[in-house]
Parts: sequence; C-alpha cells; structure tokens
Amino acid sequence: MSLIVQKYGGTSVGSTERIRRVAERVIATQRAGHRVAAVVSAMSGVTDTLLGMARELSPRPTERELDVLLATGEQTTIALLAMAINAAGARAVSFTGAQAGIVTDGTHTRARIANIDPAEMQARLDDGEIVIVAGFQGRTMAGQVTTLGRGGSDLTAIALAAALKADQCQIFTDVDGVYTCDPRIVPDARKLDELAYEEMLELASSGAKVMQSRSVEFANKFGVPFEVRSSFNDNPGTHVIAEHMSMENVVVRGLSVEKNQAKVTITAVPDRPGTAASVFNALSSAAVVVDVIVQNVAHVTGATDISFTLNKDDLDAARAALEPVAREIGAKGVEAKSGVAKLSVVGIGMRSHSGVAAKLFASLAAAGVNIQMISTSEIKVAVIIEEADITRAARAVHADFGLANGPLLA
Ligand code: ADP
Ligand code: ASP
Ligand code: MG
Repeated sequence: MSLIVQKYGGTSVGSTERIRRVAERVIATQRAGHRVAAVVSAMSGVTDTLLGMARELSPRPTERELDVLLATGEQTTIALLAMAINAAGARAVSFTGAQAGIVTDGTHTRARIANIDPAEMQARLDDGEIVIVAGFQGRTMAGQVTTLGRGGSDLTAIALAAALKADQCQIFTDVDGVYTCDPRIVPDARKLDELAYEEMLELASSGAKVMQSRSVEFANKFGVPFEVRSSFNDNPGTHVIAEHMSMENVVVRGLSVEKNQAKVTITAVPDRPGTAASVFNALSSAAVVVDVIVQNVAHVTGATDISFTLNKDDLDAARAALEPVAREIGAKGVEAKSGVAKLSVVGIGMRSHSGVAAKLFASLAAAGVNIQMISTSEIKVAVIIEEADITRAARAVHADFGLANGPLLA
C-alpha cells in the first residue's frame, strides 16, 4: 500500500470548518487505499499573533521561550485535526515534533533537522491509523523545543516524506500550485505544470514564499519530488522534480519579488586589501544576512563605495555593526535606505541561452523603472529597484517575457 505525506498550510486549517474539510480529504485519501501522514501548520494568523504577544511583553524575548511559545500553534492544529478525523469515523493519532522523533540542532527559531526516527509513526501507520504531525517544530537531543524558521512546516513535510520513504509528498496550500509569479502581484500569472528543484529554490530564496526555501534545498539534496496544490479544489498542482532534458528549452520559468529590503552603502572606502573583509566580518558577527553586494571601481581618489542589500528588519543591527568599522578602515560614512525591493527572473534555460539580462533591462527601461543594483547567478538575473515600483515592474516584465501565454522557448 502506498504512503502519502500531505501538508496543509495555515489558511487551509484556518477555522474549525476548514479543519473539518481537511479531515474529509485525508480520510478520502486513506479510503482510496493509501497510508496517510498529514503535517499541519498553525491556523492562519496564529504564529503572528503569538509573536505579537511576545513582543508586547519583551522587546527581545529569549529564542528558547519563543520556540516554546510558537510550537503551541501547530500543537493546537494537530489535536483539532485528529479529533475531526476520529469524529468522522476514521482513526487518527497526533504527534508533536518531539513525539514524531524529529531531532534538530540547538539553533532556536531556525533549527536544522538532524535526524528523524520514524519508528512510532511507522507502527501507527502499519496499524491503519492516520498520523498527524505538527509542522515547524522538533526537539534537540537534550529535549528542548525548537522551531524550523518561518514557513517551516514545508520542511517538516519534505523531511518526513524522506524519512518514511513516502511514495508521494503533496503540499496543500491556498493557490493551485506554483505560478510564473505570485498571483497576488501579477493577476495573469500562469500555473506551472512542473519545474526543477533548482528553479523552485531560486524562486523561493528570492521571495516566492509559496515554499520555504530550506525545504526545497532539502528536497533537492535528498531527491524528494513534491506537488504543490490547492486544498480548496481537486485541480492538479505543480510538480517540483529533478531537472530533465527538455526543461532547458524554457529560458525563463518565472519571476519572484522580494519586498522589505534595504540598501546600505559604505562611502569612500580606501581601495586596499582587507577592507571588504572587515566590513563583512563585522556583519557576519552581528548575524546579519547580506544579499546583493556591489563594489564599484575605485575613483581616481583611491577610494570606492561598497553597497549591499539586506532585510530591512536587520538594518539597525547592520548600522550598529558598521559604524565602528567604517571609522576603523577610514571610510567616509555609512548610508542606509529602506524601501527597496528585488525582482528576479529565473530559469535553468539561462545556462545555455543568452539575452535574458538585456531583455529584462529593456523591459524595465520601457516601464520607466530605474535599476539600482544588479546580480546574476547561472540561472537567475536579479535587480534591486524602488519598492514603490515593484508591482508595475513585475507586471511589465511578466508581460514582456510572455509568461502569461506559455513559456518562452529557446
Ligand atoms: P501556506 O500557509 O499554505 O504555507 P503560504 O502563504 O506560505 O501558504 O504560501 C502560499 C502563498 O504564496 C500564496 O497565497 C501566494 O500569494 C504566495 N506566492 C508567492 N509566490 C508564488 C508563486 N510563484 N506561485 C504561487 N504562489 C506564490
Ligand atoms: N506556523 C509557522 C509560520 O507561520 C510555520 C508554517 O506555517 O509553515 O511560519
Ligand atoms: Mg507556507
């Protein structure tokens, strides 16, 4: 009998009525002849509400207590879903992350899964029960509660599918699949039938929050194909799978948009070995994650500007870390600006086809959007622009690459 891991996100379990509908879908899957393990998120809004309460009581709550707090969101949902399934006449048993044998490292609020011992879940599945697992959480070897970073229920589902050697992994959410761009931003975005792990990873790590990027990294590393689909209908979703040959024919698979970014420029940095190292060491010691970096060519004065982008929430920490370093290395100053955003164009066909960057820049020029920074990888071209321009830019680029009508073929 095949084993299916299903994951239901926050909106899909957002009310008791919706939990009842998830229960029906899970039971229908079992009645169709499968064993089912379902991973669930906290009901929509619950994680944010809990975070808000924490901040009311403490400007910087300890990460250990944040994890104990946030894990309650998913714990509520597993119990409610198991009750709904039992009430409908099937048999379900709920597991917290710890009870499911999900062991992580000790990095509170963004722990990494180290190991999953699926023995107890396997025994319950063999016994004909439906297993319900709390997403987004685990425990350390020492028994501390940990969480896996925002959107982490996706990671629980993928890791569980690997540990249980599941035949299918289905990610149920509030859209029909992975689109050529977030349909909330580009209304005529098109649902993709399939895309490669690497493309999903680039999209997710540059703002497409439909999948947590770490979960896609895990799926790629351990070869866990998955399907993203809607919990509100029976439409086929998007299959995220290993790359195959014909995929290279599609030059641009999709776009992603990342808002809430900020840009920092250290001005007139003396042009000598070691200055960039000092700057980025200071940021890394302050645990600031840096994204796009640009260092300009030195002026005749022998000084250069270094600019980088980061999440705007990290701006104060970055500024505090950089001011002493700027003085030390003899730079002129530190300028910071929020209100920028990143637009990325992604497709594995870019490896073998040129012209994507030129077409992207032409499209932005025609839309009157100014480019502040540019970054590229093998399968991505990204630009930093004013956040106020991002929706207009995304719609223009989506249209100019013809993404609504079908993929741009080489
Ligand atoms: P869940 O609660 O089910 O985990 P999320 O809110 O995390 O759901 O992810 C689903 C949302 O991701 C969608 O509602 C959509 O707005 C957004 N999204 C961003 N980029 C994309 C994309 N390329 N395709 C589909 N959805 C996207
Ligand atoms: N509840 C967590 C969050 O909101 C995890 C998840 O939903 O995947 O980030
Ligand atoms: Mg999510």
